[in-house]
Amino acid sequence: AHYVYRFGGGVSDGGKGDKNLLGGKGANLAEMAAIGLPVPPGFTISTEMCTRYYEEGESFPDSLRDEVANGLAHIEGITGKTFGDAADPLLVSVRSGARVSMPGMMDTVLNLGLNDATVEGLAASAGDPRFAWDSYRRFIQMYSDVVLGLDHGRFEEALEIAKEDRGVHLDTELEAEDWRRLTGRYKELVEEELGRPFPQDVHEQLWGAIGAVFGSWQSERAKVYRRLNAIPGDWGTAVNVQAMVFGNMGETSATGVAFTRDPSTGERAYYGEYLINAQGEDVVAGIRTPQYLTRAAREAAKAKAVSMEESMPEVFAELARVFDLLEAHYRDMQDIEFTVERGRLFMLQTRSGKRTARAALRIAVDMAGEGLISEEEAILRVDPAALDQLLHPTLDPAAERKVIAKGLPASPGAASGAAVFDADTAEKRAGLGEKVILVRIETSPEDIHGMHAAEGILTARGGMTSHAAVVARGMGRPCVSGAGSVSIDYARRLMRVGGQEVREGETITIDGASGEVMLGEVATVQPELVGDFGTLMAWADKVRRLAVRTNAETPADCRTAREFGAEGIGLCRTEHMFFEAGRIANVRRMILAEDEAGRRAALANLLPEQRGDFEEIFRIMAGLPVTIRLLDPPLHEFLPHNESELAELAAASGTSAEAIKRRVGELHEFNPMLGHRGCRLGITYPEIYEMQARAIFEAAARVATETGEAPIPEVMVPLVGTRAELGIIRKLIERTAEAVFAETGRTLDYRVGTMIELPRAALLADQIAEEAHFFSFGTNDLTQTTLGVSRDDAARFLGIYVEKGIFERDPFVSIDEDGVGQLISIAAERGRAVKQDLKLGICGEHGGDPTSIAFCEKTGLDYVSASPYRVPIARLAAAQAAL
Ligand code: PEP
Ligand code: MG
Repeated sequence: AHYVYRFGGGVSDGGKGDKNLLGGKGANLAEMAAIGLPVPPGFTISTEMCTRYYEEGESFPDSLRDEVANGLAHIEGITGKTFGDAADPLLVSVRSGARVSMPGMMDTVLNLGLNDATVEGLAASAGDPRFAWDSYRRFIQMYSDVVLGLDHGRFEEALEIAKEDRGVHLDTELEAEDWRRLTGRYKELVEEELGRPFPQDVHEQLWGAIGAVFGSWQSERAKVYRRLNAIPGDWGTAVNVQAMVFGNMGETSATGVAFTRDPSTGERAYYGEYLINAQGEDVVAGIRTPQYLTRAAREAAKAKAVSMEESMPEVFAELARVFDLLEAHYRDMQDIEFTVERGRLFMLQTRSGKRTARAALRIAVDMAGEGLISEEEAILRVDPAALDQLLHPTLDPAAERKVIAKGLPASPGAASGAAVFDADTAEKRAGLGEKVILVRIETSPEDIHGMHAAEGILTARGGMTSHAAVVARGMGRPCVSGAGSVSIDYARRLMRVGGQEVREGETITIDGASGEVMLGEVATVQPELVGDFGTLMAWADKVRRLAVRTNAETPADCRTAREFGAEGIGLCRTEHMFFEAGRIANVRRMILAEDEAGRRAALANLLPEQRGDFEEIFRIMAGLPVTIRLLDPPLHEFLPHNESELAELAAASGTSAEAIKRRVGELHEFNPMLGHRGCRLGITYPEIYEMQARAIFEAAARVATETGEAPIPEVMVPLVGTRAELGIIRKLIERTAEAVFAETGRTLDYRVGTMIELPRAALLADQIAEEAHFFSFGTNDLTQTTLGVSRDDAARFLGIYVEKGIFERDPFVSIDEDGVGQLISIAAERGRAVKQDLKLGICGEHGGDPTSIAFCEKTGLDYVSASPYRVPIARLAAAQAAL
């Protein structure tokens, strides 16, 4: 095996496809050299050596000595300089480079090869003693830090003393003699700390640096970075040894970083910074303020310092040519490092540039327009999840913020408002025109009106599929859930966090994209749904197979979803309508009724209201399928919660408070999610589903008459586990439909289907399919019931499970393919074996998750249903999955 790969001077042992072996930096240096760009010659020691280095107790095989010697000979041959030569020394840089960039996580040594003899040679050959001594002291400082592990504070201190002695403030004011003296002081420091002198042997220096770079792979900060970014520890880093070029050789030298397009807007304009007479790290270190690359950028910023385009027009023209060449070659926006040494341009790095969602969109669409990439490639270039950033207001990145807590990023967007601690107050204050953030320990369906009225929602408990999270995403409200460090005192109307109190009315800001909670108002920026967005969506629609529907029940949500391109409703949760202002009393009377007659009386009041809701939805969704789910939540959730609600109810229904209390006690459940809910309600209280079915068919008939276009309702039954349940309820629905058709004299087309959200239903899908036109996988409950993990409480431990790698991702966010996914596959297969045209969809939160959508494509589902703001994400993800 060999470990050293050369590049430069017409030689390239590797190329851009060798990232795993040579690291990103090494592979791209080889590639740039191969296409004839000016790259200082060098060689890369592969990542395989890093692995072997650790396998063999942090030592190198003997064969590497010869390989490195050959690599050095390659550099010497091209530069005409010799490593360690006292007259005209070759200096090299030694840098790390892993498969993926790990910014600032690993180490670099520059100017390696300087010692007491070669510094004189460098001074003579460069004709610049000041530059030579400055380079030497920089080298000692960097090498001592990175390789010898000495504290760089003492070096900084010595530099400060040197400046004080000379009565100057800036490094640039020190002269050759000052640097020489400081170098002497640095060497003394090393000897004091280390007990031996600074290494003068250039080969010892080189091997020390190579070992240090490999060693930095296992440094604490690198480990932490890998853990946070899910980078495997066995990838290893490569080491790049490259001839030094100097941006600090006077006024005709410079160094800079650039992007071939604007990484924040995507505009096709060179974008970057440079510094005259500086070395690479000066640009990043921020000691001097870098200047603009182009004249246009300088003028736009009204900056005085001259741009590179103006100060070095010829080199800039060459740089621009290289930018174009690199873009054409890599077919993507590039992030570049370069150095100009006495008027000569050198490329030190290129890689695909990081960009904002907005820039990603624009660059993809522009590049397809330029013919650089195909429409399909453009679709694949944009991260669907990042589209979210474009659809909601976001925090102004320039704004100052004081973060007081962090929870889960449950629903994106940023919002500021007065903290309020109950839904009624939220509604009241919002009604008076005030912006409010609803803060709750957790939310329940009763809080819906407050959530609607609020700008954003913050909860102390609950995960990514908690009530607050699901509803907020559906409404497009920013939400931070499960902020465990927030403790809420409802009685005193305040929350405590990090030792301070936030009272009702005090302004807070939440960022649903990061999960951060801030004190005070933080400025936001509004989204711009620019033309590129529509263009990319249209391309995505052409290639995707999966249909995309929405989970929506309010008219506003339905409209938003249609604007975002939803092709129907996949889930209309009717219980949300039960909580509307003024209805809850009738709902409670219905639940608490002692007998069927009592229930029917209350239901009769609800019928016209439900029918009105459905009429409006059918009108908004004209021409598109609408799946309406019959009542699902445990009755328990609708019960009065305190004495005053109890008293109110008693007064309204003419029953005694005692009687109501007794009934509430009867309905109490220990485990309501596994209790009296879903189709079990329809089996035990058929009149509830009968009322809902009647409302649906009457609404459809009215809209058909009114518009001439008959809606096609799809009636969906929740939480079915047996064929018999669905059979009974289907007959009830059919009977009701027939009755309405007879009364209205109009027969309508409709479907009856079921949710698959219990493992038993998935396993017995063949039997259940006999009774169903369609299946919709309710993966929230299916995940809960398959894993035996509560969707409302899991946040407490799921994070740790993901951290420990027990789950790769939160199973309530991305489908657990091995378990839940297997049940979906089984159900799809067994269902279709019985009924070939059985329509299959998904309406759990996973329907808006790109990874889960890829799974749905693979499994052959017909559609996914996502909350309105996730519809564009789902369209793009479905397209990517189809490609
Ligand atoms: C589900 O369980 O996945 C589902 C969509 O229903 P809900 O979230 O209303 O329980
Ligand atoms: Mg469910």
